[in-house]
Amino acid sequence: MRRFPFPALLFLAVSAHSQDDRALRERAQRYLIDLIRIDTTNPPGNETRVARYLKTVADAEGIPSEVLGGDPARMNFVARLKAAGRTELKPLLLMAHSDVVPADPSQWTVPAFSGEVRDGYILGRGAQDDKSLLAAELAVLVELKRRAVKLNRDVILLSEADEEAGSLGIQWLIKNAWDKIDAEFAVNEGGFAIDVHSGKRLFQIQTSEKIPTRVILTARGRAGHGSLPRADNPVVHLARAITRIAEAGQPVRLNTTTRRYFAEMSKLSDHNWLSPLLPKLENGRGAIAAANEIRAREPEFEALLRTTVSPSMLSAGMKINVIPNTAQAHVDVRRLPEETRDEVMARFRKTIDDPAVDVSSDAGQDMPSTEPSSLTTTLYQAMERVFTRSNPAAAVIPYMSRGATDGSYLRQKGMAVYGAALFLREGESRAHGNDERLSTANLAAGTMLLWDVVGETAGAGR
Ligand SMILES: [Zn+2]
Repeated sequence: MRRFPFPALLFLAVSAHSQDDRALRERAQRYLIDLIRIDTTNPPGNETRVARYLKTVADAEGIPSEVLGGDPARMNFVARLKAAGRTELKPLLLMAHSDVVPADPSQWTVPAFSGEVRDGYILGRGAQDDKSLLAAELAVLVELKRRAVKLNRDVILLSEADEEAGSLGIQWLIKNAWDKIDAEFAVNEGGFAIDVHSGKRLFQIQTSEKIPTRVILTARGRAGHGSLPRADNPVVHLARAITRIAEAGQPVRLNTTTRRYFAEMSKLSDHNWLSPLLPKLENGRGAIAAANEIRAREPEFEALLRTTVSPSMLSAGMKINVIPNTAQAHVDVRRLPEETRDEVMARFRKTIDDPAVDVSSDAGQDMPSTEPSSLTTTLYQAMERVFTRSNPAAAVIPYMSRGATDGSYLRQKGMAVYGAALFLREGESRAHGNDERLSTANLAAGTMLLWDVVGETAGAGR
């Protein structure tokens, strides 16, 4: 029997038998293996296969659900368990995307879509990103139904297509089926737990994310013979422009999430060197020097302080003795969520300060700029309690991820979205990497954490 320190959680205390818990964990594992075996490599996606699988499970359990979307091959899935009786409380949304990034079979030691279990690990594309979360969420939804848990708010399960490419799924849903997914808050990907050297287990709840901003620099000049150097050689102008933006110190800006994140990090013996630098980050002129000092010790931290600039693709010229008339660079910019694309582009133009170089944005999705999700919602506080009591060495901290998720689209609609730190990082992250895997113990523990979080957020009797 699991023990719950909150006596108000009668529904859990009464029905939470250890064999039910075991069934819940085993179901999560079976779902994950099944989901890995459904190849939803994006492109092309074919996420309808996952949506149909989820529908089959929901139908068998008597959970109302539907498959919906704008493209028959790329459908989304939504299921809903209703609150018992009338409620003022808005729903809890459990979300996880159904697509995965491609896997190169020559780089894997097992077939990437086999869902093989080896040495205590479930292997396969999606084992981390994001089918483990989807499996845990589905298992919890089924368990709520099976145990006939009385809910004080609706619980919605959403699996959306195309997160890894154009986020077409979430955008379609917001536009065409908002009332079906509208919720007070959501559990999403993007957070994780990690054991640090000092022995602490950090539960990093993602409340904010940086925004991919793809910038193209195009230099133009006149073509000519390589034997006669030209002042308007676009290769030279482009090279100078790249150097200028890459080396310019982007402004340092903290938000509610990163301010709290660094304050908590500096308390750990692992990172107490941060303490004297933090006040400098808030103080105009000293901020850039302090950020540079932080970069020298921990580039991961520095990337959370400012918009980052990584030139990644170059193209110019056809022949060594011909000066081309254009040269182009693509720059992977990850901007702070408080900055707009226009602000960043205007700053780059000013820094480059060269009329021969045009600064434009790559076509494609423009994810919205948003404030971090609140640290005082019922869901965030439930995660704080559940994670804290799960481990004596736990520390729970809000986190801004460098990577983007579908969460920013929902944050823009006013929903609080959290990358729940359900799973423990096991060595280096293999999300998007080779031999992606998650241990069965990690999946089981994360599923139980989610069960408790959902119980504390949506369980009646509180
Ligand atoms: Zn993902």
